[in-house]
Amino acid sequence: MRIPVNDLKRHDAPLAGQLAAAVNRVLSSGWYILGPEVEAFEEEFARYCGAAHAIGVGNGTDALELALRALGIGPVAEVATVANAGMYGTTAILRAGATPLYVDVDERSMTMSPAALRAGVSSATAAVIVTHLYGQMAEMEELLAVAGRADIPVIEDAAQAHGAERAGRKAGSWGALGCFSFYPTKNLGAAGDGGAVVTSDATLARKVRALRQYGWTDRFRSTVAGGRNSRLDEVQAAVLRVKLPHLDGWNARRREIAGIYERALIGSGIALPPTGLEACPTHLYVIRLQKRDCIRSALRAAGIGTDVHYPVPDHRQESMRGVAFRQTALPVTEACADEVLTLPYFPEMTDGEVEEIAELLRSLQLV
Ligand SMILES: *Cc1c(COP(=O)(O)O)cnc(C)c1O
Repeated sequence: MRIPVNDLKRHDAPLAGQLAAAVNRVLSSGWYILGPEVEAFEEEFARYCGAAHAIGVGNGTDALELALRALGIGPVAEVATVANAGMYGTTAILRAGATPLYVDVDERSMTMSPAALRAGVSSATAAVIVTHLYGQMAEMEELLAVAGRADIPVIEDAAQAHGAERAGRKAGSWGALGCFSFYPTKNLGAAGDGGAVVTSDATLARKVRALRQYGWTDRFRSTVAGGRNSRLDEVQAAVLRVKLPHLDGWNARRREIAGIYERALIGSGIALPPTGLEACPTHLYVIRLQKRDCIRSALRAAGIGTDVHYPVPDHRQESMRGVAFRQTALPVTEACADEVLTLPYFPEMTDGEVEEIAELLRSLQLV
């Protein structure tokens, strides 16, 4: 594709020298797992998120699973979540032995609807996973109020929302625990897999720290049940430490790009994401339109990459056929799956590239 959805080569090129130096520092230290780089990154990332603790883990899905386990979620528990976020939350819930309760999303933000959560929770609901989809903060004040009234802890899935803010507070610092992925294409990406859990609760932090390594609280002493092996490694931590200082700049450039898309597409009949300082998505720029698949092919023919996040809602995935869960009405979730289209959106795009895509979309929308 002439203009891809994301371009990691362009993204990483300006940092090539620093990244190589960081990797070499680890190689010459001979220390590869849970060492000084992970420790330093955990401290820097916790501070960045405005949380007291960060715990590096193997990936974002493990972060969610270990967060659930730290809260004591297991078999028979029901965990409320959305069905439009790519199976990540569902995978973690099922791995923890629990059952998903799907809650519909808000028509405009496509994040969890507080009203639908209120209607859905029952005495079986033991936790809520709120996803900041596309790097757009969910309506945390209301969601926390609804969950709080039922005394249910909230886990944030902030795997698309590193650095996103609401009311001046960062994603990951609102709930009992916040979960991040450092998959290479995320806003803050490693050179492989990685993830983190952040929390300001010392007891939960201690549990996650034990759960990521066989339940150990001391070397070879396993005291926390449900542990496994899911660790962040030194090379990834060193890479992430090079990139973290650039995250705010990258997010700011994405917001600029969203502004260019908006100015060029407003009035075209295409539903656009918000662009306000805090409301703007920091990860993916997702529009909604009828004739999605047709327009997608026309863009492809012009060398413009697009994607669909996500084409199949979790409750309709083939792998869910044998899974028992409470059926709920998800009309907005289902409509969105047929209409969402992800446009190229990465900090290194030129204004000209964004304008060209918008122009073409406008002309396609007319035919
Ligand atoms: C990527 C992602 C995850 C999972 O992260 P992995 O590191 O791939 O396991 C979880 N939630 C959301 C919203 C994501 O985008």
